Amino acid sequence: MSVEKYAVIGHPIAHSKSPLIHQAFAQQFGKTIVYDKVLAPLDGFLATVQELQQQGYLGANVTVPFKFEAFDLSQTLSERAQAAGAVNTLSFSQAQIQGDNTDGCGLVNDILKHHQTALAAKRILLLGAGGAAQGVMLPLIAQRPAQVTVANRSQDKAQAMLKKFATEAQQFDVSLAVTSFTDLNAPLNEPYDVVINATSAGLTDTPLSLSSQLFGAHTLAYDMMYGRETPFMQQARLAGAKVVDGLGMLIEQAAEAFFIWHGLRPDTAPVIQAFR
Ligand code: NDP
Repeated sequence: MSVEKYAVIGHPIAHSKSPLIHQAFAQQFGKTIVYDKVLAPLDGFLATVQELQQQGYLGANVTVPFKFEAFDLSQTLSERAQAAGAVNTLSFSQAQIQGDNTDGCGLVNDILKHHQTALAAKRILLLGAGGAAQGVMLPLIAQRPAQVTVANRSQDKAQAMLKKFATEAQQFDVSLAVTSFTDLNAPLNEPYDVVINATSAGLTDTPLSLSSQLFGAHTLAYDMMYGRETPFMQQARLAGAKVVDGLGMLIEQAAEAFFIWHGLRPDTAPVIQAFR
């Protein structure tokens, strides 16, 4: 029997930890898989996907900057991929391409399972309204927090994002609001329960000019970035919050992709520990 082949496609891709994560999961079940890193030319995502299909690959993860193109070329989309407007997991079967998005579920599972923080009835502040923020909105709302407030540099982008999730918010009884980084500095009655940094400001070590009153001793300050301490994490730590990075999200989103492809749920805790 031939070995099942999977890949992660991105540009750049050398830094990707996905092959190591998927191989660690496969090992847990005594499975042998191929999982390659594939660098697609910036104008060659579709051709790269077609090539992988022809070579008998069964699926691919998709990372920056191709998640929107992956959405466009998927012939069927999961509900969460539709809500996110982006795809990070492709499955190939009989020349069909199915698109899913596991990023949001990865974030929520990491918070619930590894940081013992329930989201129900909580006040959540989400910083950013890019692809990652949009991808986590539906899974966050489904946890029935009391409130999700979104702050983004471009206000119109945040407004448009909230409009998209108004029906779901109503259905789950979640209050949605948009604010600006400036307004976040106005006096606040109490700190947020959870503050999620879904901006890419950390990539360039850019501080977000946040007021420290956003964070309290009970606040979970979650930065989706991993690999180094961002200015957001430093500020939240100084303000006394519990600070976590996005490594667990990365491994949990991979676990959900692994489940989509293999129907098996890996144990993520030892993999997170090994990567730390
Ligand atoms: P996008 O490029 O789609 O969005 C970037 C967001 O960051 C926008 O909201 C943008 O605001 C904001 N932003 C950028 N620079 C600044 C700044 N200097 N000040 C304030 N806001 C800023 O990126 P993604 O959404 O795809 O990714 C966001 C982060 O999430 C990245 O760090 C990425 O690595 C991480 N991520 C982690 C994952 C994981 O598994 N751990 C998975 C996916 C993403 P504006 O709209 O105004 O431009």
